[in-house]
Amino acid sequence: MTVDYPKEFQGFAINDPKDWDHPKLTKFEPKKFDAHDVDIEVECCGICASELFSLKNEWSSEPLTCMTSSYGPKSQVVGHEVVGKVVAVGDKVSLCKVGDRIGLGAQASSCMSCPRCHGNNEQYCAKSVTTYCSKYEDGYVSQGGYASHVRAHEQFCFPVPEEIESEYVAPLMCGGLTVYSPIKRSIQGSKEPRVGVIGIGGLGHMAIMISKALGAHVVAFSRSNRKRADAEKMGADAFVATGEEKDWSERYMDQFDLILNCASSTSELDLDSFLRVLRVNKNFVSVGLPEKDDRFNLSPLTFMGNGATVGVSKLGSRQEAVELLDLAAKHGFRPWVETIKLSEAGVHEGLTRLDAGDVRYRFALVGFNEFFGT
Ligand code: NDP
Ligand code: ZN
Ligand code: ZN
Repeated sequence: MTVDYPKEFQGFAINDPKDWDHPKLTKFEPKKFDAHDVDIEVECCGICASELFSLKNEWSSEPLTCMTSSYGPKSQVVGHEVVGKVVAVGDKVSLCKVGDRIGLGAQASSCMSCPRCHGNNEQYCAKSVTTYCSKYEDGYVSQGGYASHVRAHEQFCFPVPEEIESEYVAPLMCGGLTVYSPIKRSIQGSKEPRVGVIGIGGLGHMAIMISKALGAHVVAFSRSNRKRADAEKMGADAFVATGEEKDWSERYMDQFDLILNCASSTSELDLDSFLRVLRVNKNFVSVGLPEKDDRFNLSPLTFMGNGATVGVSKLGSRQEAVELLDLAAKHGFRPWVETIKLSEAGVHEGLTRLDAGDVRYRFALVGFNEFFGT
């Protein structure tokens, strides 16, 4: 179909990493509208720590990807925990229709024809395009959800259950899905599943609630005791302040099917201790993605006792997103969200407070319709 509303979108953008905390309202050209594309009028958008790394350009040694786009903006709008209304669909779209409320996470496109795309692993497609900062084959660099509209492939636009309010859906779209996928994959088949969650931030707090909803015993690992009471309210069965209790690993030997690392830095991560407390052949999985020079420091000798595995996990599939939303609807858990009204000042506040660790436990930017007059 022909798109007959704004040819230009508006969003909060930077074109220099030194301005990471001051995105400015900008008009920009969207990507070309394909037959499987969906245009979303954004209603609210979560703020994920990945956006800090991207805006500061800490995952790359190259200039911001948008500087090398073949067409479209040479500036970058971030945002990838989007909830909004479908306002246009391409001719071949069958998964949603105009008027639907849908959610969009950190992935906006993939090839849809490789074994990974056919096997519910489209997040690992070699041609995957993320919702922002990622180049399409035609050279356009994707623009995210701190914006009036986002354009994405229908596969990544998830139907949202009526009973969950948008501000609670938003954090599930990236953070929630990113932890749901490895939790579900790791505890499947375990009779008494036990999960350890490191780093009680946006992802970590959802990992506690999701693990509980999936029937696991959960231990929260945080650097200090400051989040103990909150973690217990979220459902954690036990809490370890790793910076304060040095011998904790002896108490937890042979306990876990999964240790899920949600910390945004490896600087205070005692990986040897975490590997020792896994059950035989079980997994340490990192969803935390630190800056590019951060490394895991570990010796193969650490693995000898239990044959544990170290891995990472990226986002989740459409099938997993749908399962997660269904779990949240049925089980009734909700992310802990502080809302911030959309504006330049609001975007600045959200980014700087997240950067300072001053968030309990996820920000959602709201009031998009009011701000953009849509
Ligand atoms: P938050 O900032 O909300 O939480 C991060 C947590 O990490 C903090 O709450 C803190 O937990 C811990 N932490 C912070 N600084 C340090 C440090 N120096 N050393 C050790 N631990 C630290 O971030 P998010 O939850 O939004 O994101 C977490 C990570 O996940 C980021 O790296 C992000 O890029 C990544 N991510 C990865 C995805 C994937 O597909 N793999 C998708 C989405 C995000 P505490 O105070 O309890 O110690
Ligand atoms: Zn994210
Ligand atoms: Zn593919």
